Amino acid sequence: MSQYTAPVKDMNFVLFDVFKADEYWQSNSTLAEAIDPDTAKAILEESAKVTEQAIAPFSRTADEEGVQFNEGVVTTPECYKNAFNVVAEGGWIGLAGDPEYGGMGMPKSLAAMHEEMMCSADLAFALYPGLTAGACLAIRAHASDEFKETYLPNMYAGTWAGSMCLTEAHAGTDLGLIKTKAVDNGDGSYDITGSKIFISGGEQDLTENIIHLVLAKLPDAPEGSRGISLFIVPKRHVNQDGSSGENNNVSCGSIEHKMGIHGSATCVINFDGAKGYLVGEINKGLACMFTMMNYERLLVGLQGLGAAERSYQNALTYALDRGQGKGNPRMGEGATDPIIVHPDVRRMLLNMKAMNEAGRAFTTYVSIQLDKAKYDEDADVAKIANAKGQLLTPIAKAFMTDISLEMTIAGQQVFGGHGYVREWGQEQLVRDTRITQIYEGTNGVQALDLIGRKVAMDNGVTANTLAKEVIAFAQENEQLFPKELKQLTEAVDVLSAVTVDVLKKAAVNPNELGAASVDYLHLFGYVMYGYMWAKMMVAANNVSDEQLKTSKLKTGRFYFSRLLPKIHSLKAMIESGADELYQHSVDDF
Ligand SMILES: Cc1cc2nc3c(=O)[nH]c(=O)nc-3n(C[C@H](O)[C@H](O)[C@H](O)COP(=O)(O)OP(=O)(O)OC[C@H]3O[C@@H](n4cnc5c(N)ncnc54)[C@H](O)[C@@H]3O)c2cc1C
Repeated sequence: MSQYTAPVKDMNFVLFDVFKADEYWQSNSTLAEAIDPDTAKAILEESAKVTEQAIAPFSRTADEEGVQFNEGVVTTPECYKNAFNVVAEGGWIGLAGDPEYGGMGMPKSLAAMHEEMMCSADLAFALYPGLTAGACLAIRAHASDEFKETYLPNMYAGTWAGSMCLTEAHAGTDLGLIKTKAVDNGDGSYDITGSKIFISGGEQDLTENIIHLVLAKLPDAPEGSRGISLFIVPKRHVNQDGSSGENNNVSCGSIEHKMGIHGSATCVINFDGAKGYLVGEINKGLACMFTMMNYERLLVGLQGLGAAERSYQNALTYALDRGQGKGNPRMGEGATDPIIVHPDVRRMLLNMKAMNEAGRAFTTYVSIQLDKAKYDEDADVAKIANAKGQLLTPIAKAFMTDISLEMTIAGQQVFGGHGYVREWGQEQLVRDTRITQIYEGTNGVQALDLIGRKVAMDNGVTANTLAKEVIAFAQENEQLFPKELKQLTEAVDVLSAVTVDVLKKAAVNPNELGAASVDYLHLFGYVMYGYMWAKMMVAANNVSDEQLKTSKLKTGRFYFSRLLPKIHSLKAMIESGADELYQHSVDDF
């Protein structure tokens, strides 16, 4: 795989010039103690060093070596051992973790940038620390103090890893169907029995122990998702002194052979009367698990962004070097010009650049909402930020990963036939990013979550608050970029009108929500990226770095003229409604 250069300059611009994160950190007593701009910049530089040097150079080797399975033993690619040690010893798993248990207490807005770099460097590898950090969040939020003390320090340190055990052979999206059983032993422990499939990092050779977060049902539990409880099930028992003991009747039955993320172990994990410990309340497990799942959903969006960023970097380097045909105007006197002269190659590169930079700003915006929800001292601010974070999480997961597939394919296309063969790494990025549209709840299900739970059930209140925020920003700055900010206001109007229309139709026919959902999510995504570009253009107008300023203003204009207009076709598709989908009888398919 080609070289990776972490986009630290753009990250600093987004964090400090666009969102003035430092001002917010200083205004908040907890964050002011944890972080200042110099420390944040040093963390970004260090993260860049780790990902560029210890992880990215080996991602192709890891893909080719893959994960091996032999009689229950899972072996990850050799280069992952060193990479994992570097990540663990650097404290990166606990970057945003609770300082009381050994975490570094950094804001999500900073941690998300580290996560993007990890995912660019090697998406498959990033799953091991990423799932561990996610499991820590759920334990931190819902487990007893005793469990927090037992598990969190070792997990933040990377001595133990975490996994998320939801899926069963017959229960994927519909987790209410799970069959894994939990039987109360009456001594604070439960016997867990069942088989989970597709468990990322369910077994590996990187850590001394694996702490599984397992969804299971008690014998008398209510039917469906209201009867699910959450358990901590360590792979090896934890001894009184905190060390890892004997195996806890947890075993790996097999691993999957997959299209991509070959370095990530995707396992069948069998629990045969394994000792588990309840987290949160009985039958409230799904809600507790959502703490982890929401975190993972933003991380999956960052996986998409990471892959697309790496693909863009490769494609740009190639387009500047590969000579084919002659352009207008020409670049030099040679027999050919580099392919970057051709309009279609420029279109692909600019699509990638515009969408990636907007994606980085968008994940930062979402992360700032999560930081405010967690840390803000004003309860009202925290509440609104929480609602916005919830609303935007399915967009971060699904829009960013749908776009990632498009962008990695564009990056592959820039290489022509050389993008299809292994040598340049572009095909790996396409294969690796494909799963991001599927796991952590398919993108179709994310779209339903957005339109059904986050918009319809809320009567559009949070979406409306956000729309007002965008319009206020556009009005405040319209004299700077009148054409683009007028377009942004119109885009918000389109989104608001579509929202009202779909909700009205859904009151008569509930299928209208599902029929509109994916296009609606994309429409929402393009409007949010428009907001991000407007914010970046306004911020860039004030920076002294002329190269950065010019690049941002030109790319922003490109977004408004070539990409935002997609909302009009999405609107038309949404308006066609549910009836069109139900014209076919099953026999007509
Ligand atoms: C590589 C990999 C790693 C994974 N890692 C983990 C992990 O660490 N832990 C874990 O627990 N799971 C993991 N998964 C499982 C993953 O989260 C599920 O595959 C995913 O949630 C979809 O479930 P399913 O495969 O059963 O598909 P199904 O639920 O059967 O869905 C099939 C199709 O039907 C659609 N669909 C289903 N229900 C609805 C509905 N109500 N409305 C509209 N459309 C619907 C879906 O969108 C999809 O297109 C992993 C999977 C893979 C492949």
